[in-house]
Amino acid sequence: MPEGLIFDLKKYAINDGPGIRTTVFFKGCPLRCRWCHNPEGQSFAPEIMIRPSRCLSDCSECVAACPEGAIVKTAGVPVLDRPRCNACGKCADVCPAQAIERVGRRLSAAQLLREIEKDRIFQEESGGGVTFSGGEPLSQPDFLSEILEQCRKKEIHTTVDTCGFAPADVLERIAEKTDLILFDLKAIDEKKHIAFTGKSNRLILENLKRLAAKGKKVVVRIPIVPGVNDDEENILGTAEFLRSLGTISEISLLPYHKLGRDKYRGLEKKADDDDFTPPSAERLERIKKDLEDCGFRVSLGE
Ligand code: SF4
Ligand code: SF4
Repeated sequence: MPEGLIFDLKKYAINDGPGIRTTVFFKGCPLRCRWCHNPEGQSFAPEIMIRPSRCLSDCSECVAACPEGAIVKTAGVPVLDRPRCNACGKCADVCPAQAIERVGRRLSAAQLLREIEKDRIFQEESGGGVTFSGGEPLSQPDFLSEILEQCRKKEIHTTVDTCGFAPADVLERIAEKTDLILFDLKAIDEKKHIAFTGKSNRLILENLKRLAAKGKKVVVRIPIVPGVNDDEENILGTAEFLRSLGTISEISLLPYHKLGRDKYRGLEKKADDDDFTPPSAERLERIKKDLEDCGFRVSLGE
């Protein structure tokens, strides 16, 4: 049985599909969007995240627990020698202050299903279910396929939230087993897409065409990042492309925010969004109205 690597499991989510949902975040993503607020979802391997402000001054449990000598306390805070660290998590296990976290855990589909089923009552009463997000869930296709099958047997509504960057056969295999797809479209212009995500959008657009041709239930999600994709050319170009597909009627706008900054610091990764600012309420409303005028049902998400 394939195992999956996930980095979070969020209960009572209300923005990841219909009703109240359990959202499972798969670890690893092929894109590197400059506005990403889940940097812990980028790498395909477990990582150690440190929050020095939580560290207790009279403690050095983590230093004693590390078999690799990869962590020291300097000026009262834990400092990680990342090349030496193998992310075993022993330091996190002993930390009494949750100042160290091992991000990423491996589990089987049966184990994950048990977690999902704990929220069954909320899912059923609200018309919700489970959403597989990330990172990029399609980058772990065998595990995703297995958990989707198990959810279907239990009649749990499933949603997959994808950036669309996956082989066509993977997307089609997963789509057959999924009730709803949330499909992210970042920019319609290929050069812009490469500049801001690191990858071409050709495969992504082709994949969306494939889903639409099959009449799959899809909601398109557009992150709105001022100066990147909030211009009229991109918004109307996106609307024109979506209209040409014929079967897509719903769009969700996700305003850019800077809430992932702490996590970048904890992973010692450099955030690359200093020049971005969140969109104003007026700008969002304008974009919403423009897309509604093009015939789409548009909602504002988070
Ligand atoms: S994760 Fe393991 S190797 Fe890395 S610092 Fe902690 S105990 Fe040491
Ligand atoms: S175990 Fe936690 S609280 Fe203790 S020194 Fe390490 S990081 Fe700080």
